[in-house]
Amino acid sequence: SKVPFITLNNGVRMPRLGFGVWQVGDDEATEAVGTALEAGYRSVDTAAAYGNEAGTGKALAASGLPREELFVTTKVWNSDHGYDAALRAFDESLRRLGLEYVDLYLIHWPMPGRGLYADTWRALERIHSEGRARAIGVSNFHEPHLRRLLEEGSVVPAVNQIELHPNLAQGALRAFHAEHGIATEAWSPLGQGKGLLEDPVIVSVAERHGRTPAQVVLRWHLQLGNVVIPKSVTPSRIAENIDVFDFELDGADMTALAGLDRGERLGPDPETFDFTG
Ligand code: NAD
Repeated sequence: SKVPFITLNNGVRMPRLGFGVWQVGDDEATEAVGTALEAGYRSVDTAAAYGNEAGTGKALAASGLPREELFVTTKVWNSDHGYDAALRAFDESLRRLGLEYVDLYLIHWPMPGRGLYADTWRALERIHSEGRARAIGVSNFHEPHLRRLLEEGSVVPAVNQIELHPNLAQGALRAFHAEHGIATEAWSPLGQGKGLLEDPVIVSVAERHGRTPAQVVLRWHLQLGNVVIPKSVTPSRIAENIDVFDFELDGADMTALAGLDRGERLGPDPETFDFTG
């Protein structure tokens, strides 16, 4: 595969570009992940809450690829915060995926109002020490939540997976991650494909490079050092989204895209989101 790697803070190598499967049905995930693996993706981002760990696992098995070439991420859902619940949830995720270990296990949301993310983190530390997750991290954590884990925990999160795209560039959090050796992984890297890919600034950069808006946005991420996990179920787009390692944005392009930062969230606010359904 042509995708370069980032080295996480524990030495584990993670592909800089992976395949996201949020809002993809279980059967549909088998097909889409199969297409992605054929196109050269080796990293897949799922979650217990997505309801497609089984379908994802089927595609991984059917690919015939050696396990060590794959990088599989899943996440503990909000209903399973707490030490014992998270350990049980992890066993269930592994069973559904049909794997003996995952490459990255994340706390999906911090739910600071519930006050259980530090206990949940102890469960992830145990899973990591048992070798059942090669790396552990978090998702949707803000600086105070990360600080608490840095103070109370014994493992520094390898990754924080956060909403990040040109309309929400997350400069302060990215700087905090860089200071503490935490990799930044961008969810909804394409801004869910809605208005962002029609933004005239992005369209004009794309035209100048003879590339698509999605490819320009993915380059912007990669050049900032973000890990990206674009989602698509359309084979041509799946191929397009990984074909981003043979061109480069220049300083003027990067500045133009930086001008699109409006601090605009598409998803929920991590400070208050505590849905458990
Ligand atoms: P995304 O930014 O990857 O956008 C996906 C959508 O963009 C597609 O459904 C399609 O409509 C469009 N699209 C994709 N490729 C395109 C192309 N080449 N040209 C034109 N349009 C294109 O959105 P996402 O699915 O929200 O995020 C990606 C992944 O991030 C998810 O699948 C999931 O794995 C992860 N995620 C994590 C969290 C979290 O809380 N940790 C939340 C949301 C998403």
